[in-house]
Amino acid sequence: MNEVYLDYNASAPLDPRVAEAMMPVLAHCVGNASSAHRFGRRQAALVGTARQQVAALVDASSSGVVFCAGATEANNLALIGLAEEASPERNRIVISAVEHASVAESARWLHVQGRAKLDVVGVTRGGYLDLDELESYLGTDVAVVSVMAANSETGVLNPIADVADLAHGVGALFHCDATQMVGRLPLSMTELDVDLLAFSSHKICGLAGVGALVGTRHALGRLQPVIHGGGHERGLRSGSLNVAGIAGFGAAASLALQESAQESVRVEAFRNRLVEGLRAGLVGVYENGDAARRLPNTANLRFAGVDAEALVSNIDPVAVSTGSACSSGTVEPSRVLLAMGLSQDEAFESVRFSLGRFTTAGEVELAIAQTVEAVERIRDLTGGIG
Ligand code: PMP
Repeated sequence: MNEVYLDYNASAPLDPRVAEAMMPVLAHCVGNASSAHRFGRRQAALVGTARQQVAALVDASSSGVVFCAGATEANNLALIGLAEEASPERNRIVISAVEHASVAESARWLHVQGRAKLDVVGVTRGGYLDLDELESYLGTDVAVVSVMAANSETGVLNPIADVADLAHGVGALFHCDATQMVGRLPLSMTELDVDLLAFSSHKICGLAGVGALVGTRHALGRLQPVIHGGGHERGLRSGSLNVAGIAGFGAAASLALQESAQESVRVEAFRNRLVEGLRAGLVGVYENGDAARRLPNTANLRFAGVDAEALVSNIDPVAVSTGSACSSGTVEPSRVLLAMGLSQDEAFESVRFSLGRFTTAGEVELAIAQTVEAVERIRDLTGGIG
């Protein structure tokens, strides 16, 4: 049976062109990118090219790119690295209620350790940041505001430029976890006035375990390292660089820059067809999150009366997920959906479909057919919508 992968927000498949860009590095390149000899210089040149490609994707300066092992690490570096430098008069962190665990848990940990005060801004029923509430927390004691660009579970887009303005209005830095938005929609750090931006290679068809924190000179100057050692990456992230992974990240960034505009139109049409097909085939299907302000590739759907975990197992070989992948396997309802005001039962009925570069029309049709059949089967067994 054909497998259909609709879990791009968890991890996008490796683009064969990215693999091709990495192969010569894996096969032939020897040495440490920090070494002064010719082998090291060749490695460093590859990293330099990737740094420019990654910076270009988000319209930033290549000198602001700090390579690290994914967006989790980038988010930790941003929040913990800033807290190291914070003065007692300016040590408040403000985050949204729907941040990825790598932001939410870093902030919570700093708070529990007594190293930062913390405020968590709610979202509307549509999953959109409550700007009035954000404003109510802002004062001269705020060191950093951290709000994600697009939510991984619902795809809902936040008003990043407004958040940047509000944060800067009180002299705070603005950190943005843009892991789900980068490569899917255009994003200019310069235009949006973002101080620190985190994202990851495997969401843009590169390898997992590689990512970047990109910052302005001013913001990076305020950071202390979290990983100490030989002083790589401007002293902010020690450790020998993963040159092949970074070269692949660069190639993935270039492809995203060239292709994302066309790709997002195609993917959006597939996503809309998926939702329309499921709604035509079933009653009791509801979209979670503001459909007018979300990523082109994501649909978070609630199937009334259907346990989402049961649905996910029953539509195998179609791969979708409940909640965020990082919390899959636990019995906790999605914190994002609860923050949007869904009940626990409603959250447990919700499934995320996320499409991407290699999704085909045939796969979308198969996913519709399999999902309709599985929902009907589960409702038959469990007594319908109730
Ligand atoms: N932030 C968001 C919004 C994400 O979706 C993810 C991946 N689930 C991360 C951060 C973490 O990225 P990584 O897997 O590269 O650590």
